[in-house]
Amino acid sequence: VAELSSKDTPISVKPDGVQRRYVGQIIQRFEKRGFKLVGLKMLQASDGLLSQHYRELVKKPFYPNLVDYMTSGPVVAMVWEGLNVVQSSRRMVGPTNPAEAPAGTVRGDLSLHVSRNVVHASDSVEGAEREIKLWFEVVEASAFFWIYVCL
Ligand code: GDP
Ligand code: MG
Repeated sequence: VAELSSKDTPISVKPDGVQRRYVGQIIQRFEKRGFKLVGLKMLQASDGLLSQHYRELVKKPFYPNLVDYMTSGPVVAMVWEGLNVVQSSRRMVGPTNPAEAPAGTVRGDLSLHVSRNVVHASDSVEGAEREIKLWFEVVEASAFFWIYVCL
């Protein structure tokens, strides 16, 4: 059906969410809604990856704190698939500032402060595509680099 768009979106459990043992609960919320988990990996985010991921924020005064936060432990990066998943998952995650996030959203239920808001979700289809490439194709790119160097 033409008007039903099915897209993929990245959702990540940030280091505080992993440390607080919320990975399973967050996965369960998206599975219960009906979305399909199609990619998942745990990784330690590098400064370089974060500067690309948050490229609109690198000049913000809170950026150094954001990098400290995002590198304070492993991140569980995922890709979810389903009808209107970019917009619907963003609604499920809630506003950036947990103080403004309604109960029932991930941030509204599990967090208090903008600097520890537990989860990442993309805010646009273009952003989602860019972030999936960034988080899930970096490994292949570096593998090709090393093959090139070795040859
Ligand atoms: P998101 O898309 O809802 O995650 O929000 P943004 O893309 O605007 O910001 C990315 C992340 O930077 C947020 O999820 C927060 O963890 C962090 N952040 C945003 N604004 C602030 C702020 O004013 N102070 C601090 N400490 N962190 C912020
Ligand atoms: Mg954002």
